[in-house]
Amino acid sequence: PVRTRFAPSPTGYLHLGGARTALYSWAFARHFGGTFVLRIEDTDLERSTPEAVQAIIDGMKWLGLDHDEGPFYQMQRMDRYREVLAQMLEAGTAYQCYSSPEEVQEMRERATAAGQKPRYDGTWRPEEGKTLPAIPEGRKPVLRFKNPLDGDVTWNDFVKGSITISNRELDDLVIARPDGTPTYNFCVAIDDLDMQISHVLRGDDHVNNTPRQINILRAIGAPLPQYGHLPMILGSDGAKMSKRKDAVNVMDYPAQGYLPEAMLNYLARLGWSHGDEEVFSMEQMTSWFDGSHLSNSAAQFNVEKLNWLNNHYIKQADNERLAGLAREQMIAAGAVFEGAPELALVLGMMKERANTINELAAASMLFFRAPQPESALVAQHITDAIKPVLAQFAERIATVEWSKEAVAAMIKEVLAANTIKMPLLAMPLRLILTGQLQTPAIDQVVVVFGRETVLARLAKWL
Ligand code: GLU
Repeated sequence: PVRTRFAPSPTGYLHLGGARTALYSWAFARHFGGTFVLRIEDTDLERSTPEAVQAIIDGMKWLGLDHDEGPFYQMQRMDRYREVLAQMLEAGTAYQCYSSPEEVQEMRERATAAGQKPRYDGTWRPEEGKTLPAIPEGRKPVLRFKNPLDGDVTWNDFVKGSITISNRELDDLVIARPDGTPTYNFCVAIDDLDMQISHVLRGDDHVNNTPRQINILRAIGAPLPQYGHLPMILGSDGAKMSKRKDAVNVMDYPAQGYLPEAMLNYLARLGWSHGDEEVFSMEQMTSWFDGSHLSNSAAQFNVEKLNWLNNHYIKQADNERLAGLAREQMIAAGAVFEGAPELALVLGMMKERANTINELAAASMLFFRAPQPESALVAQHITDAIKPVLAQFAERIATVEWSKEAVAAMIKEVLAANTIKMPLLAMPLRLILTGQLQTPAIDQVVVVFGRETVLARLAKWL
């Protein structure tokens, strides 16, 4: 059975790269009817915080990436790690190393001076017929993994293709510190084993860890997962992503007015494709996402494309939902909903060109503020000459059938009866109703405001 995991280190917020890894692992599990596991890699006690755990869970919740098992916490699995460490020591696949950090440093420098990769020289590695040095008094050992000396580690990476690393490149990894606590690669390998992970999808900053994890799993006779390493996401300038240039925290996006389905669709395409499809639902993605067509080159973040998708999903969204997302920030900006048109109706009218909910909310404020037209505009547009026409218009408003078509037809009749052109009537109406000259089509605006409000606002000027 397919079992995937997302295994973030809770040291900050959920960033875009992490969210994409989570999405792909989730979609892969869903495609095969498998299980998606959430694992929190919290062994770095200095950098891990409960707030960061919460931020990751919040980010995944916003995106709708539901996990089937977990969250499991590595810090709660220490007994299990110690058990495996003891078994490995017993089996001779790990050994105690008493070299001091200074000695190890010297070994590494010696190797470098000899033109080799810096490495531990195997002083404490037990071999047949080898006598080990005397144990220095009072020193606590680290545990090292007895890495194979020869041969290669090869895996068929389902993003990058076949990868081979020579065992000579890998020295005997420290798997437990002097105080007995396990180290990073060891924990990951044991977790993937215990959680029966079949497919590991993660960032390609972990490629160098993979042969080490494979060797540990092999040494304990465990089955290997398949691995896929995703290239990183570059910033909009083509360099490494950084928060100075782009919003890298996933939860900045809801705050800016992005919809989760736009973000998901965007992240889905950032490193994966399905033909020419650009706009698709998560149902479609999970039906297509079988681990193929993952891109092997770094993707570049592009906010215009995200905006385009967000606009698409805003246009599709139910207007009541948009109202729920926009209401609070509009209140904060001073919106008054009493005696104003229905918010959902306004947003539905205004959403065509909005890239974000925040843009939509800002553009819609004119319907929810007392109109305060500038006096120069009033003088120019609400002239004594037009006031009788406005009065006729008000009279017709009182009885006209309340639909866009009927109001539009009525406006045409008023224009014809007075032989004037549209702007002469539309501009004063815009100022009277909204205080502004830039609004959607006047018949739409009139209908959205509602009969009572239109009459009340006109009355002030006549
Ligand atoms: N905890 C690692 C990270 O956040 C991921 C480890 C893995 O996926 O194997 O980068």
